[in-house]
Amino acid sequence: MSGVPAGALRLAIDREALAANWRALDALSGGVPGAPRAAAAVKADGYGLGAAVVAPVLLAAGCARLFVAHCGEAAGLLDHVPAGAVAVLHGPRDPAEAAWLQAVGVRPVINSALQARHWLEAGGGVCDLMVDTGMNRLGLPLGALGVAAGLEVDVLHTHLACADEDSPLNEVQRLRWEDARRAVTHRRAAIANSAGIALGAPYRGDMTRPGLALYGGVPAAGLAGVVRQVVRPQAAILQVRTIAAGETVGYNATFVAPRQMRVGTVALGYADGYLRCWSGRGAMRAGEARLPVLGRVSMDMTVIDLSGAEKLGEGDWVEVDYDLPAAAGESGLSQYELLTLLGRRFAR
Ligand SMILES: *Cc1c(COP(=O)(O)O)cnc(C)c1O
Repeated sequence: MSGVPAGALRLAIDREALAANWRALDALSGGVPGAPRAAAAVKADGYGLGAAVVAPVLLAAGCARLFVAHCGEAAGLLDHVPAGAVAVLHGPRDPAEAAWLQAVGVRPVINSALQARHWLEAGGGVCDLMVDTGMNRLGLPLGALGVAAGLEVDVLHTHLACADEDSPLNEVQRLRWEDARRAVTHRRAAIANSAGIALGAPYRGDMTRPGLALYGGVPAAGLAGVVRQVVRPQAAILQVRTIAAGETVGYNATFVAPRQMRVGTVALGYADGYLRCWSGRGAMRAGEARLPVLGRVSMDMTVIDLSGAEKLGEGDWVEVDYDLPAAAGESGLSQYELLTLLGRRFAR
């Protein structure tokens, strides 16, 4: 009603591809319609896509469980999905968080003896349990599994350090997870993230926890033909000019025009997650035309070569080259960073 204009940045999110990616990963996890095996990691605002956008699409596709990291992220989701579908990976860090999880019906993942105590003192009930099998980051150590005796564990989780590599640590962790499954009473068990799903049947367990691959990332060669691109960042051209040979573009004058050129200034910069690593090396597209980045990326703007697209003008939209595996290779950033960097100024 307030008539706020639409803005010059938008993230095109292919909801059909997102749902298809979840269904493909669920099938690889051994899931069948009505009995899903793949959950979904929607932490970090759905890997930058917007948790409120992706969560309902995933649930509609058949997913039954969504993982966030913080309680605050879970709170933000409750307007969009049922509380019973949400679980908090960081667990109840203090009595206030345990009480909140109880009150709203969001599932905690217990990671330590202290978290177990917070949960039990808040009333207890069904929870998940994360066991650390060798990553040494988050989760109950194998020597402390006795803590689990007082808990009502649904999913017994562990997390792989090297799922995207052919590392002997994968099998070490899987065997320790099997040991933990024998030691702790639980209903279901989970070990695989996206790359873990590609490790095959021994890593399926009863549930998998893909994140990256849902959103178009390809962390393992085995997923290359399976995962579809989901995110397409798009930006509007703010201004167009023709510059003479020898003129420079942008901060520090790092680009010098070799000839007369038509260039466009796009409303996208490093504050939006289009980092300075793309200076002089990234590209945007308009249809078939490739429009290379000229000079430095600024905070709110990037200049591109419009030589290949004579018809493009002020107000037109271009799309950032953002195929995740290729963009990661090109930029030196990880596919995870490329997604989670995407800033608040994009309309989602
Ligand atoms: C983030 C996360 C995932 C998802 O990992 P991807 O590599 O993005 O598939 C799975 N499990 C845990 C515990 C996580 O923290």
